[in-house]
Amino acid sequence: MKDFKNIIILGSGESGTGAALLAKAQGFDVFVSDSGEIAQKHKEELIKNLIPFEEGAHTWEVIADADQIIKSPGIPDKAEIMKKIYASGIPVISEIEFGFQYSIGKIIAVTGSNGKTTTTSLIYHILKEAGFKVGLGGNIGESFARKAIDNPYDVWVLELSSFQLDHCFTFRPDISVLMNITPDHLDRYEYKFENYIDSKFRIIQAQQPEDKFIVFTDNEPIVSELQKRAIKPQILPISLVQQPVTGAWLDNKSLIVNAGKQSVVVPLDKIAIQGKHNMLNAMASITACLEAGVPADKILEGLQTFKPVEHRLEPVADIEGIHFINDSKATNVDSVFYALDSMKTPVILIAGGVDKGNEYSQIEELVKKKVKLLVCMGKDNSKLLAYFDGKVEIKETSSIEQAVAIAFNSAKKGDTVLLSPACASFDLFKNYEDRGKQFKQQVGNLKAISSI
Ligand code: ADP
Repeated sequence: MKDFKNIIILGSGESGTGAALLAKAQGFDVFVSDSGEIAQKHKEELIKNLIPFEEGAHTWEVIADADQIIKSPGIPDKAEIMKKIYASGIPVISEIEFGFQYSIGKIIAVTGSNGKTTTTSLIYHILKEAGFKVGLGGNIGESFARKAIDNPYDVWVLELSSFQLDHCFTFRPDISVLMNITPDHLDRYEYKFENYIDSKFRIIQAQQPEDKFIVFTDNEPIVSELQKRAIKPQILPISLVQQPVTGAWLDNKSLIVNAGKQSVVVPLDKIAIQGKHNMLNAMASITACLEAGVPADKILEGLQTFKPVEHRLEPVADIEGIHFINDSKATNVDSVFYALDSMKTPVILIAGGVDKGNEYSQIEELVKKKVKLLVCMGKDNSKLLAYFDGKVEIKETSSIEQAVAIAFNSAKKGDTVLLSPACASFDLFKNYEDRGKQFKQQVGNLKAISSI
């Protein structure tokens, strides 16, 4: 397979460092180049493994010598260095494509605009509890490439973002899962939804007729793509409104899944995670696990013992009868739609941050119906203000402390204060985890004061 020597890795986060370690283990000449600062822990790993690197700049003379570039998903195509690389014709792949070339074992790969982490984690949990030798990787935890060095797994569950799929070519999952496609990250796709859709569909580009494609068929962009494209793998639809012959659907009290020559009926109260969106995540997970050969009783056990993932509609506290929910991971409009849809009380919504080309019309009706106060929390709230001005009461802030105080002071017993921002977090926070943690801390402070 190896007909070249020199691999250059751009970016040195978890995926770049994992790719560098795998490349080194496979005997390539490796060099890591990062235009920013390399985190200490990654630097130490590179030094320990005798992998040369540079930080603070990309040296073109060095990069121009590469036979193969492995690009970290955070680097946009419009970055100067990428333009030069594309112009020079050096092949560019993603860490996932590289990891795939050296991994052994079945692959279940999950993508979608929303629900990736929840679904990936649930599939992993069910397989692990059922006794499978299963690895978790991709956009979650340690990188695929890093874990593929030793290849200790029979089956992989990989969470894949569109950026990771963008430079995949031969990557071929045995089972692919596409949760949904709604506008997100359009800033990286020339503000063209079609480009983002193409990126998501790369998950099936190398699949063959014996492979499986689990897909949410109530999603309009997906339905129109399925009509347009020649799909090679066997389609297993999941739907809340239709009854496919194979795949998964919902009746009043149960999820019904036909897959992998088995059929299971799962009562809704036997599923640890709740909300309409989580039923879809459960349907996709059950379908994937049946296809992977997990017995039905083990699937039922896994569904019951799964713990919801932090920062996804995470109940934080009840203070003076007011519920606080942390949905910091809701970084696009569709996830806020499902969050609001599942609310059963009046809502004070804390939203805002870095807008990624958002279209707020999808949540307008739900906001009008359920939100009594919108707290806009960001450095620049102009887009949210322009859209919701006159439609709902609005207050503005650029601090989480104030946002929580405003929400608490405006809430009545029985209301819910929901952090579900619809935006990225980089204006005020390190990342969405930091935003969620700071929210929980501020709510904790309120709790301490209110109990004095
Ligand atoms: P991802 O990894 O794709 O960002 P997560 O599982 O982390 O997905 O969930 C991100 C956000 O989307 C959370 O706010 C969560 O409540 C919401 N969400 C989870 N599953 C779905 C789904 N199937 N459809 C829409 N929203 C979802």
